[in-house]
Amino acid sequence: MHYVDNKRISFEKSDVKLFLSTLFQDNCGYCGKYLPVHKQAERIAYEGQTDHYIPQSQKDYKDVNSHENLIWSCQFCNSHKQAYFDKNCMLFSPYSETDCGSLKFTSGYYYVSTETENFAELYERWKVTSERLFLNSDFHSKVRYIWCNEIETDLISMYWNWKFGKNIEDRIEQLKEKINLHSYKLLVRDYVLPKFKEKYTDFELTHTDLGIY
Ligand SMILES: [Zn+2]
Repeated sequence: MHYVDNKRISFEKSDVKLFLSTLFQDNCGYCGKYLPVHKQAERIAYEGQTDHYIPQSQKDYKDVNSHENLIWSCQFCNSHKQAYFDKNCMLFSPYSETDCGSLKFTSGYYYVSTETENFAELYERWKVTSERLFLNSDFHSKVRYIWCNEIETDLISMYWNWKFGKNIEDRIEQLKEKINLHSYKLLVRDYVLPKFKEKYTDFELTHTDLGIY
């Protein structure tokens, strides 16, 4: 789960799916799964689904269909979230900088930083969120952990090639493709790359070089 700035691109009501898939960079807003867009001739099929953060069944909320309430979601997360609503304990939102900023990530698992303001409240909400959507299940965590390590290894190998003056254009292209195929783009941007750049400070590679915006 990572912060997504939903004011970033313009919203056309007629094309909600295109808007959301672009905004979330083909990631599920909750678990980060890659949700490819299939283009066949004139037809476009989306693997992602439109989740209403505040469910449509909440008639008191008139803005349930505004784009601030729509989250691009995989079928698994969407079906497990269902019509969850508890105004005293809302799920973490990918649109909330506070929610996403409080999360730390290690060995594939997410947890709430104890240094966060309102730790107790966020902890309770995260507990409900991760249990409801299985975000810290062993399966999800293992897949994320292995994948992040693989990307890190690729980056280190690319770094040493660059250090020895070799052309790394092909490697960048391969890595871009890998990230696209397996997604978790936001995980690379917010976790793998910053961690890598702490050690390899002279390597000027940014997330946009890897096709992540
Ligand atoms: Zn998901």
